[in-house]
Amino acid sequence: MALAERGTINHRLKWTGITLLLISLAIGAGWGVYRLPAPLVERMLRTDILKQSELWKRRVVLHLEDPETTLRTGHIDGHDAEFLTSMPEASDVYRFRLFDTSGRVVWSTRQGEVGLREDSAFFRADVARGMVYYLQEVVPLSEIDGLDLHTGNIQNSSAHHIVKVFMPVTKNGRFIGAIEFFTDISDLRATFITRLRISLIVLSGVALLALAMVSLVTYRTNRAQLRSLHKQSEKERDLMADQLRLAREVRLLGELNEWLQSSRSLDELFDMVSRFMTHILPEAEGSVYVYSNSRDVLDGCASWNGGTHKAHIHPEGCWGLRRGRTYEFGASEIDFICEHAEPHDGRQYFCFPILAHGETVGLLHLRAHENCEEEFHVSRKLAQLCAEQISMAIANVRMRDQLHDQSVRDPLTGLFNRRHMTETLRKSISRSQQTGVPLSLIAVDVDHFKKFNDTHGHDAGDMVLRAVGAALEQGCDRDEVACRIGGEEFMLILPDNTPDDAVSRAEKLRQSVEAVSVRYGDKSLPRITISVGVSHYPAHGTMPQDLMRAADDALYMAKDKGRNQVQVAKGTPTETGSADSNGQKVRTSGPVAAA
Ligand code: GH3
Ligand code: MG
Ligand code: MG
Repeated sequence: MALAERGTINHRLKWTGITLLLISLAIGAGWGVYRLPAPLVERMLRTDILKQSELWKRRVVLHLEDPETTLRTGHIDGHDAEFLTSMPEASDVYRFRLFDTSGRVVWSTRQGEVGLREDSAFFRADVARGMVYYLQEVVPLSEIDGLDLHTGNIQNSSAHHIVKVFMPVTKNGRFIGAIEFFTDISDLRATFITRLRISLIVLSGVALLALAMVSLVTYRTNRAQLRSLHKQSEKERDLMADQLRLAREVRLLGELNEWLQSSRSLDELFDMVSRFMTHILPEAEGSVYVYSNSRDVLDGCASWNGGTHKAHIHPEGCWGLRRGRTYEFGASEIDFICEHAEPHDGRQYFCFPILAHGETVGLLHLRAHENCEEEFHVSRKLAQLCAEQISMAIANVRMRDQLHDQSVRDPLTGLFNRRHMTETLRKSISRSQQTGVPLSLIAVDVDHFKKFNDTHGHDAGDMVLRAVGAALEQGCDRDEVACRIGGEEFMLILPDNTPDDAVSRAEKLRQSVEAVSVRYGDKSLPRITISVGVSHYPAHGTMPQDLMRAADDALYMAKDKGRNQVQVAKGTPTETGSADSNGQKVRTSGPVAAA
């Protein structure tokens, strides 16, 4: 059953319960209103009538000349008789009698009662001992004397409620007789009962209303509390979900960090970034750009989750890079689209500048998938953390690359050093051994460089060495490696080159160095030349040092033969020869062109 449906049923059940309770209370109140007043009123009347009776008794006793004698003998003079006869008219008493101590009637408002005796046990037991006796009775209408005197509110019924009160008369604590008063309480009783019923009805109504109000208020309060409890539990559920999401994000970030730190190259790093970002932020497509060495553009390195990256973008075209902080497109009323985000379809996106050691090294660009903009906006903090992790990882890889470069590169020319060359040559030889592809080695030495240094200075010499290094590097193709092995000596490893090709490449290198013009201050330095020796694998050796020695020997041969020329090591299986400065092939032992 749905939660809402269950809630509605509970709600109805509660209301039905409250209504039933109020109905039963109303019935109970009705019963009480009908039943309770009579006994209550009778009790009230008893108290009231007893007080009245005391007053009536005093009036009678005070008006009698000699109450003791009158009660004992029944002798009543004219004045007393007048008073006693007028008593019913002057009070609520419709009949009364005087008794002597033995219970004999000595005087009565009714004719013919004198001499009658009251034999009731209560008279002897109670009244004769000074106690008041009260008796309420229902009598027929005919029993009430002088009804016209009491016709105020006579009930139109045959039976009437009357009260008989025996009042003992004492003198100095001695019982001297009694007076019995009869009073009709029917009207008073009926009026009292009606009034009491009305009061009870009003009170019950007010009580029921108050109860209904209290129930309503309590019910509403409970409902409000229930609602707030629901809200609270929903909040707690959301909080729990948030915490779980946070824990997952922290775990994923930790994993991302661990993987990124272990990546060996930027390519590997961007591969990992692509996989992790797809997983961590599935609602966003992304791409990452890194500044090129020239720092005028950023190169597109990777993209994921449906994203694409351009080959190059300009830093001025990105608002994130231009402002040096995260740019969120779609967060403000007015936004400008980054150049690299074109063509743009209005979706939200982030540009996080990637910083490493305080320097901007790249850009992380994330764009929301369609209909995921809400989740995307919420993920900004996480995305920011990812960008920071990526920044740190890029910085690490770069630093590692730099350290590696420092260990394998020559700082003056930027070419590889001797150590790296030996290593590479070993690998190239091993590859050639396995695949059978040809391999050649070229040794280069600048001619008369000592003299050049002496003439133009060491700094000028350095500039020339840099220019020679650049010319050699430019002359290299894909897998070819140019190295500075020391001083003004260089070596090039040329895999996949036939001996013939290698010789012509050496000659081209010689020519390109010869064409180098270096400006130093405001003057152009004189051009320099190089002598070149070439050796081939496996003809001149199968070990790195053998091939190097052979190339060196050929180089010295070129020096011997007058410098500025190419010589091939002796024992070349195919065409053993050299090229002159005009590029014409000559035999190794043939004439050498002068430098
Ligand atoms: P050759 O034609 O026979 O090779 O004559 P060379 O003078 O070039 O030969 P040598 O070996 O006598 O002299 C090499 C010179 O190269 C010595 C040194 O002054 C210079 N040299 C070596 N390393 C550097 C360097 O790093 N910078 C500069 N400016 N000169 C260097
Ligand atoms: Mg030398
Ligand atoms: Mg030299």
